[in-house]
Amino acid sequence: MSNIPVGISACLLGNPVRHDGGHKHSRFCTGVLSRYFEFRSICPELEAGLGVPRPTIHLRELDNGLRLTESKGDADHTDTMRDWIESRLPQLADLRGYILMAKSPSCGMERIKVHNEKGRVIHREGRGLFADALMQAYPLLPVEEEGRLNDSHLRENFIERVYAYDDWMRMQDEGLSRSALVAFHTRHKFQLMAHCEKTYRILGRQVADQKSEPIETVANRYIRLFMEAMSQKIHRGAHANVMQHMMGFLRESLSASDRQVIGEQIEAYLREEVPLVVPMTLLRMAQRREPVDYLARQDYLSPYPEDLGLRNRV
Ligand code: SF4
Repeated sequence: MSNIPVGISACLLGNPVRHDGGHKHSRFCTGVLSRYFEFRSICPELEAGLGVPRPTIHLRELDNGLRLTESKGDADHTDTMRDWIESRLPQLADLRGYILMAKSPSCGMERIKVHNEKGRVIHREGRGLFADALMQAYPLLPVEEEGRLNDSHLRENFIERVYAYDDWMRMQDEGLSRSALVAFHTRHKFQLMAHCEKTYRILGRQVADQKSEPIETVANRYIRLFMEAMSQKIHRGAHANVMQHMMGFLRESLSASDRQVIGEQIEAYLREEVPLVVPMTLLRMAQRREPVDYLARQDYLSPYPEDLGLRNRV
C-alpha cells in the first residue's frame, strides 16, 4: 500500500457527479492504481455549486474571452468556477500527480471543443478551465487524461513521473540541501540518461557545480529541467544504451555466458521481440546476486512497484 497523494476527476472513481447523475468509472484507477495512490477526488462543477443534475456546459469564445456557459441558453458560470478554482488550488500543493477526465469543459486536458456565441464549434484546441488552472499553478505536476492511460507507453511514463516527483517532494519535506540534491540526482541518473541524454549531462554539471547560488535557486532550475526530461518518451535504443552501461558496472560479477545472455536479450528488446522487463529482470537478478553499491542507488532498476507490470508492455 502507498500513500502517494494523487488528484483525480471524481467521476472516474464511479461517483455519480456528472451532469446527468452518471459517472465514468475507470476500473484501472479504482482496481489497480488505488492500491498505490491515495486518490483525492474532485468534481469542479459539483464543488463550484452547479449541482447534480445540472444543465450541460461548454466553452465559448466571446468578446470578453473564454467563458464557461450552459450549452442551451446563455447562463455563464465562468466567474463562479474561477472563484472556486482560486480558493481550491492552494489545497492541492501536496499532490504528486493528477488524472483528469477527458472531453470535459472543466477537467479536459486537451482537444476540448470551443464554441462561438451561436454555439457552433470553432476549434478543438481548448482545455478545461480547472485543468488549465491546475497545470498553470503546478507546472511540474505529472498530469494525464484517463483515456490516454490505455496507451502502455503513456501509462508507464505517467506513473514513473509520479514516483519521481514524489521522491522530489519527500526530499523537500525532509529538508532541501546541496547533499540531498546530489543524492536525488544520483538516484535518478540512469532514468534521466534514458529519457534525455542531453539534459542528463546539463543537470550533472549543474549539480556538480552548485557554486554560491542559493540552494533554492539551484533546485528550482534543476527540477524544471528534470521533469521536462522525464516526460520525454524513452526510445528502445536509449533503454538499450542504459542497460549496456549498467552491464559495465556488473562486469566483475557476470560470467561470460551471463553477459552473452543479457546482451542477446537487450538485442531482442531492440528488435521488439521481447518487452523491457526481460533484459531488465536479468540485470536485476545479476545485481541482486552480487550487489554493486552504485547500481543499488539507481531508481532506474525499480522506478515503481514491480507488480504494476508496466515494463511487460513497453
Ligand atoms: S469531468 Fe470533472 S466536472 Fe465533469 S463530472 Fe467528472 S469530475 Fe465533475
